[in-house]
Amino acid sequence: MRKIQMVDLKGQYDKIKETVNDSIQSVLDTTSYINGPLVHQFQKNLEDYLGVKHVIPCANGTDALQIAMMGLGLQPGDEVITADFTFAATVEVIALLNLTPVLVDVNKDDFNINIEAIKKAITPKTKAIVPVHLFGQCANMEAIMQLAEEHNLYVIEDNAQGIGANYTYKNGKKAKSGTIGHVASTSFFPSKNLGAYGDGGAIFTNDDDLAHTIRGIVNHGMYERYHHDVVGVNSRLDSMQAAVLDAKLPHLDTYNAARREAARKYNDAFKDEKNVITPKTVNNCEGICSTCDCHVFHQYTLKVKNIDRDALVKHLNENGIPCGVYYPIPLHSQKAYKDSRYNEADFPVTNQLVKEVISLPMHTELDDEQIDFITKTVKAFINK
Ligand SMILES: *Cc1c(COP(=O)(O)O)cnc(C)c1O
Repeated sequence: MRKIQMVDLKGQYDKIKETVNDSIQSVLDTTSYINGPLVHQFQKNLEDYLGVKHVIPCANGTDALQIAMMGLGLQPGDEVITADFTFAATVEVIALLNLTPVLVDVNKDDFNINIEAIKKAITPKTKAIVPVHLFGQCANMEAIMQLAEEHNLYVIEDNAQGIGANYTYKNGKKAKSGTIGHVASTSFFPSKNLGAYGDGGAIFTNDDDLAHTIRGIVNHGMYERYHHDVVGVNSRLDSMQAAVLDAKLPHLDTYNAARREAARKYNDAFKDEKNVITPKTVNNCEGICSTCDCHVFHQYTLKVKNIDRDALVKHLNENGIPCGVYYPIPLHSQKAYKDSRYNEADFPVTNQLVKEVISLPMHTELDDEQIDFITKTVKAFINK
């Protein structure tokens, strides 16, 4: 059996080596390392793929979130509601901009921000909601957009884990994740579903004015050379990374389909285990269907009941199976983000999830033998 990895970047690269190498070579040949033609080409290709008017490439997914918030003109003291159960980048940029993060609980089934919790957290100071499409499935965007409209709020989608996923509306209409809110961010960190060979990120929006503002912010607040109209940042996707991403973009749907296929096999292997809760698809989409891309499984995350989760992690590691706990500590309990306004009783789901979640290896190169070994090893531990 091939060695099991959490993410198999080498196996994936080997299959597209020539295309990627040629693409990188073209950057070397032109020496257009910054803002070269490939950055523009990738931007256009991603706009077409997503069906969004503007993609603004930047240096990483954390910058993308920060720049989106700067572009919207959020001001110190404005409250921004986001999920308690996510990667810290989301809350970090809110705090960095001196905005007030308001963390709220998530759903137990899809791990995404809970609508009732958002409603409860809205105050006259609330200016934005940041849903995170955690593990590759969209938050309930229809309800979130409706709340935003009622309360005049911006919606910033953190799409770092959801690129390529479709969101299905109640009426059956579909839209790509990251094209529904006022603005969205994504990350091209190597292990993300569309990963570069280094850092990268992008901002998406359908709003022409906002796109213009953001294009200036990523470039030192310049709209005309050496005229600095606003305080900006330096955040660029470099041409080498754009070369890799442009070579990989045509494979994104195939990659996501491979992830879904692996998820389906995992689900099937655990279907009779009553103490193992497999991931659910929501948003008007039942099961893991082969056609609709409703879930792109950035992570395949189980909840384990009546089992010592940390002992299971240890057991898997001892058997050569890497796994992850995303995330072990709720953000509201992290030293940096503690706030006396938070009440433990408002976070029942997150507080439970941090004890129960375990993410199994998930990538585009998993084969049946590996999945079989992983699931058998999990089951052996659970039923011992
Ligand atoms: C990865 C990630 C980010 C940050 O992306 P970087 O490119 O590493 O800065 C932000 N939010 C979420 C939910 C992520 O998973």
